[in-house]
Amino acid sequence: MIDARLGIGMTSARTRNRLVQRLIEQGIRSEVVLNQIRTVPRHLFVDEALASRAYEDTALPIGLGQTISQPFIVARMTEALLDGFTGESILEIGTGCGYQTAMLAPLVKKIYTVERVPELLKKTRVRLRSLDIYNVQFRPGDGWEGWPKYAPYDGIIVTAAPASIPQKLLDQLAPGGRLIIPVGPKGRQDLTMVTKLADHFEQVSLGAVSFVPLVQGK
Ligand code: SAH
Repeated sequence: MIDARLGIGMTSARTRNRLVQRLIEQGIRSEVVLNQIRTVPRHLFVDEALASRAYEDTALPIGLGQTISQPFIVARMTEALLDGFTGESILEIGTGCGYQTAMLAPLVKKIYTVERVPELLKKTRVRLRSLDIYNVQFRPGDGWEGWPKYAPYDGIIVTAAPASIPQKLLDQLAPGGRLIIPVGPKGRQDLTMVTKLADHFEQVSLGAVSFVPLVQGK
């Protein structure tokens, strides 16, 4: 029997390997991350009409005015978040279709994810369950608030861009923890890595990116 999830043609192993090759050329080094790019069935995260483009290194629309992030950016953020990571819990802001969540899920113990569009979250929850991903807890809500209940988090990843880093996310970061977040206005966002050290936050820029805004309020 043919497993529909393995796919054929434009979703084949060859197509996926081509994407992995491209990411290696662009500087992605982590084997676990590249393996996840190869493994996660990105065509199941986009509308069927776009499935043939799922393994292009590009962002795609996913309805409700939102997008699935570009594979290179997902790989870059995952690599930065997990480099030297020894913690357990990750807070993700901006679940969207759950592609980033699915990339991370097998690599960490527990993910807490917050999305402001409930319809999107409902679909994503079903999608991730159908892919046998069970270590994710979902919450409809405003990511500017983080998710205080399970704080502090060993890592926080934000996949929508605020104009400045939300203080509450810094507060919910564990000592030694790392926050990966695009910051800035549309067209001038900077992917930023913040590490919480004993008495200050260290901030490093990882380059220019383009994300939808982290909407403020409900
Ligand atoms: N992580 C996704 C990309 C998400 S796009 C992927 O892997 O493809 C950004 C998401 O952030 C959208 O779903 C949007 O609804 C959500 N978002 C925007 N503002 C938010 C906020 N204040 N709180 C929570 N989610 C927010």
